[in-house]
Amino acid sequence: MKYVSTRGKAPDLNFEEAMLTGLARDGGLYVPEEYPLLSVQQISSFSTKSYEEVAFEIMKPFIGDTFSDDEFKRIIKTAYSGFSHRAKCPMVQLSENHFLLELFHGPTLAFKDVAMQLIGQMFEAALKRRGEKVTIVGATSGDTGSAAMEAFKGLDSVDLFIMYPHGRVSEVQRRQMTTPQETNVHALAVDGDFDTCQALLKDMFNDFDFRDEVRLAGVNSINWARVLAQVVYYFTSAVAIGAPNRKVSFSVPTGNFGDIFAGYVAKKMGLPIDRLIIATNQNDILHRTVKTGNHTKSEVKPSISPSMDIQVSSNFERLIFDLYQRDGSKVTELFDALKNDGTFTLSNEANNQLINEFDSGCCSDIETIQAIKKYHRSMGEILCPHSAIGVSVSEDQMGKSPMITLATAHPAKFPDAVQKACGVIPDLPSHMADLYDRDERMTRVPGDLNALEAIIRKGIK
Ligand SMILES: *Cc1c(COP(=O)(O)O)cnc(C)c1O
Repeated sequence: MKYVSTRGKAPDLNFEEAMLTGLARDGGLYVPEEYPLLSVQQISSFSTKSYEEVAFEIMKPFIGDTFSDDEFKRIIKTAYSGFSHRAKCPMVQLSENHFLLELFHGPTLAFKDVAMQLIGQMFEAALKRRGEKVTIVGATSGDTGSAAMEAFKGLDSVDLFIMYPHGRVSEVQRRQMTTPQETNVHALAVDGDFDTCQALLKDMFNDFDFRDEVRLAGVNSINWARVLAQVVYYFTSAVAIGAPNRKVSFSVPTGNFGDIFAGYVAKKMGLPIDRLIIATNQNDILHRTVKTGNHTKSEVKPSISPSMDIQVSSNFERLIFDLYQRDGSKVTELFDALKNDGTFTLSNEANNQLINEFDSGCCSDIETIQAIKKYHRSMGEILCPHSAIGVSVSEDQMGKSPMITLATAHPAKFPDAVQKACGVIPDLPSHMADLYDRDERMTRVPGDLNALEAIIRKGIK
């Protein structure tokens, strides 16, 4: 499988190169040249297979000969061995036609672990074989950073630096990033919001001298391998409730459009998805885009679902690429306009296609709290604020097909919001019970590229 850039000017790469590179050199994102279509028989057969077996079958066509079958199976097994639930991504039923897909049984309690644990193992295997080292720099609104720290800490071939917006992540998220003692992982507290961090990261990737000097790699959700790992649970969950014999809908709490883009890929691969619903918090750029056809940035408004406090939704570029028949120059034009003027408008055809593929809904902090309260009262289910947004939007949009809402984090990751909503402080799982007692280690960074690059140079082993 070949990977092409959404801006159309960077060289095509194979899976391994695309994974190790992250952002394309023309500023675009790598996407597979085509989406393999699975047969109905193959999708049906998933119902008797383990999560790991399904993961292997779905990802295999995308990775080409990067790993042998045996090696890839071993990588998958190791990646998911740290998940605390045997099903890896189990479901609970909320009502007759509504299911909650729990994606938070990995080591850092958010769905980011599903992809990051796998990427950690894939980087390690590929880099060891190549005898190379890389510097991974990431930007996080909270959960990606801790998931990356957990996945890469202690690996010989990687130095990891994670930027997070100072003072804008929850205490659990911060502590998960600042308490690992392994010297190859570094938490960087940046003055600014998540979009500042993400812009610094993009600028760093576009500083080719620095990029080559430190062998920069990225594991943000712009990394194709992350999206790919997330395609798997769309299949396992849909098959568990009757696909491919009946259509299933998904409601996905969305920020960077990574998780829901994986759902779109699953659909392209033949999973019969009825509706894919974009669920946003008050930072509703994607909801507004679906409703108006205008993709217009505004200020990030901090919410009680901080992992979705985003106005620049990186993975949306992958969808735009498809909406414009994979025309890289058109994508470049639109995203240049977004960078320079803060806005672009979709053509009628692109807008129609967008509305065809996606529904959307937006949920305020008050509605989020109401949803947490409601499910705690009625069934003792404690939702994290992000999952509550997905659930709340699902309720507004329930149709004929069964609905699966993605639960993206464990409630203990966001104790303040949960306590405010239902009076309960959710317990941290036992492996993290001493999180509040561990020593923290971090570096404060101004929102400035030169200062940041100097800190990274100094921090590399
Ligand atoms: C990252 C994250 C999201 C948003 O996921 P995207 O892939 O950025 O859309 C939602 N909820 C939680 C808990 C997250 O960590």
